[in-house]
Amino acid sequence: MAGRLDGKVAVITGGCSGIGLGTVELFVAEGAQVVAADIQDEKGAILEKRFPGQVVYAHCDVTSEADIEGALKKAKSEFGGLDILFNNAGISDRMTSIAEVTVEGWDWIYSILVRGPALGMKHAAPLMIERGGGSIINTASIAGLQAGFGPIAYSSAKAAVIHMSRVAAAQLSPQKIRVNAICPGLIATSIFGASFGATREMADQMAARVAELGATVQPVPKAGLPDDIAQAALYLASDMSAFVSGTHLVVDGGITVGGRHAWDQSQTSPFATILGLDEMPTAQG
Ligand code: NAP
Repeated sequence: MAGRLDGKVAVITGGCSGIGLGTVELFVAEGAQVVAADIQDEKGAILEKRFPGQVVYAHCDVTSEADIEGALKKAKSEFGGLDILFNNAGISDRMTSIAEVTVEGWDWIYSILVRGPALGMKHAAPLMIERGGGSIINTASIAGLQAGFGPIAYSSAKAAVIHMSRVAAAQLSPQKIRVNAICPGLIATSIFGASFGATREMADQMAARVAELGATVQPVPKAGLPDDIAQAALYLASDMSAFVSGTHLVVDGGITVGGRHAWDQSQTSPFATILGLDEMPTAQG
């Protein structure tokens, strides 16, 4: 059966772990050749061995413009060109409140989450134009849509990613380059441990724990997994979404539909509590 990405070449940042790794695996299964760009060199070498001829690894710290440019050029030197860029590398932080914000911390988060994808788009566009068009996907977050899902710098950076994707979509449409964002909900990956300074092994164990417990967090009673986001990335990368640009796709098992009381029968609506509706006698007495 034909793959939905047959003949396509993709660069995926953060491609050695979590959502990025799940997307590398799915894109390869759908026929793409992939440059997995990350800072985890050992995992990158393992990926190259798993998928000879289909995956090459590029050491790419997305805070470095030279690294980003190098990873994108590798798509051309190794596989002949570039059709898809998934700007996905990321990390969270612990500056939970405004009072905890530091200049270094803020700039570090923005350099990875906002400047990295911006530079990725800058260097991807000329390569995609050579191919007659392409698809850029930026990983945002539900934290960029609502308060309460992440620290302040992280959340505002993800909101910036959503809007930057719209602006870039407008600018790159004439060149037949589509740009979209994905807003994942809670996905079982190592990012939670990594942001708390855990070792990679411990962070991977935390991901497994989220996979075990994640089914109870949102209306859809299953844990969010990297493949759930990879499937969304496949849709946006492929011709299935040929008429879709400048949007953000929320993939969160419904966690942003409303407060927990909206879907969890054990919870009471805050309105009902304030108005004392719980205690009112029913029409039947
Ligand atoms: P992950 O498993 O930790 O994967 C992220 C990858 O990016 C890791 O390999 C990480 O390496 C790498 N990375 C970190 N800093 C980098 C840099 N400067 N340059 C290049 N690579 C770098 O986490 P994930 O959950 O899959 O995260 C992927 C994206 O999804 C992120 O943008 C994240 O904000 C977003 N997201 C995740 C969730 C979720 O619930 N998991 C929800 C919403 C959005 P290290 O391990 O060495 O840091």
